[in-house]
Amino acid sequence: MSKEGNEAVTPARAKKRVIVVGGGAAGMMCAALLAERGLNVQLIEHNERLGKKLYITGKGRCNFTNSSSPDEFLSAVLSNPKFLFSASRALTSRDVIDLFEGWGVETKVERGRRAFPASDHAADIIDALRRKLKKEHVEIRLGTEALRILTVPEEEQDPSSKRRGPAMSVTGVEIGTPKGREVLKADAVVLATGGLSYPSTGSTGDGYRLAEECGHTVTDLHPSLVPVNCKEEYVRDLQGLSLRNVTLTVRKGKKILFSDFGELLFTHFGISGPLVLSMSAAAGPALSGPDISGFIDLKPALSIQQLDARFVRVFAASPKRALKNVLHEFYPAKLVPVIPRAAGIDDEKRCGDIFQKERERLVTVTKQFPVTPVSLRGYQEAVVTKGGIRVREIDPKTMESRTCRSLYCIGELLDVDAFTGGYNLQIAWSTAAVCARAIAEAEV
Ligand SMILES: Cc1cc2nc3c(=O)[nH]c(=O)nc-3n(C[C@H](O)[C@H](O)[C@H](O)COP(=O)(O)OP(=O)(O)OC[C@H]3O[C@@H](n4cnc5c(N)ncnc54)[C@H](O)[C@@H]3O)c2cc1C
Repeated sequence: MSKEGNEAVTPARAKKRVIVVGGGAAGMMCAALLAERGLNVQLIEHNERLGKKLYITGKGRCNFTNSSSPDEFLSAVLSNPKFLFSASRALTSRDVIDLFEGWGVETKVERGRRAFPASDHAADIIDALRRKLKKEHVEIRLGTEALRILTVPEEEQDPSSKRRGPAMSVTGVEIGTPKGREVLKADAVVLATGGLSYPSTGSTGDGYRLAEECGHTVTDLHPSLVPVNCKEEYVRDLQGLSLRNVTLTVRKGKKILFSDFGELLFTHFGISGPLVLSMSAAAGPALSGPDISGFIDLKPALSIQQLDARFVRVFAASPKRALKNVLHEFYPAKLVPVIPRAAGIDDEKRCGDIFQKERERLVTVTKQFPVTPVSLRGYQEAVVTKGGIRVREIDPKTMESRTCRSLYCIGELLDVDAFTGGYNLQIAWSTAAVCARAIAEAEV
């Protein structure tokens, strides 16, 4: 981590008052690092507890970062990776692991360099952040909603100058509590309100409106890392079937939008699982458009010729048996009735009576099992939101708004998102750290 964290606290800094809006991953980290630098920090959260979403991350285990280099981290970022260059250096994944270890969390790194608390309990990460906030005397206001960012117009600017500064600057936040409205004054405000995914955790999208009121543009928003609905009715019959070591390919016309190897799961509406979440993030909103096709290669380790030869062998060995009674040698039980249907072959037909053309159709269906995506599922099932505050309007070295002085935006609220693997939380931690450093170093 950067050395500045240990700097002596100057009286000027001690007086600087910062409001952090949103007590999720980015907000808690930013508040902790600001207070550690001696700033006077208020953290406001409209839920009755901090880090509600963090509890459900990594299926309750919290894959809190990915133990990869900053460049590897950036290559896992799908939207605007270059914007995160400075942030990725301000707090690397190694720094994050060291930080949590230093705050008393034993950690471990698993397959794919995914880092978790050794206990497998997300609560350890949240408790560590809470302890740190308490130790650094951050004032936490729960059940408190940011209603409006308070601003004043900036002084007259020289119209002939090409470099236009922000049109306004922050003075505080208007909040709503069960007792009514209140105005909190601040020298700087950090917006860390997250996106729209899993709204039950408090991600209401408020931050987009708050930022727009301060002159920001919000790009188109879509659920990402989300299951997809499929056209084929047989997916319902396959509900609950999990396939490992398969290849999923999605095309728009002839163009390949996504092709990768891994694990997926059939559901009552379509497909889900790690491979599908990655596909949803890579292909994005294009999935809802026309000309989309999707296929699973159920036997990626076998070439078309090898697979055909296997069918020939098995059929020759059991010419009198019905097709449906030998297919279990090729597929899991749930697929056995579906495959002949998809290939247009009567599954009662005896293996010895199957024509070459029918066998070729079996091979095609196996190598290209159709799962046509028709739409993404909703935000209730999405791990992250794709889109957000336009990054051109944010200084990447500080996270400060270019439209409103002393307003800072961090975390999922920004137009940045990444694949699964701990990268999205790394975005939250890194943007929080670069922002905390900038606020601490800025003139009052
Ligand atoms: C099911 C699930 C599993 C996930 N697992 C992982 C994982 O294992 N690894 C990983 O890297 N990422 C994971 N993610 C993604 C990760 O959780 C998010 O990217 C991350 O939490 C974003 O952090 P944030 O602080 O920007 O937003 P959030 O964590 O959403 O925090 C925003 C906070 O702001 C508060 N807020 C909103 N509006 C207001 C307002 N007006 N006033 C006051 N407070 C407000 C909200 O209540 C919330 O607490 C997962 C997401 C989900 C949904």
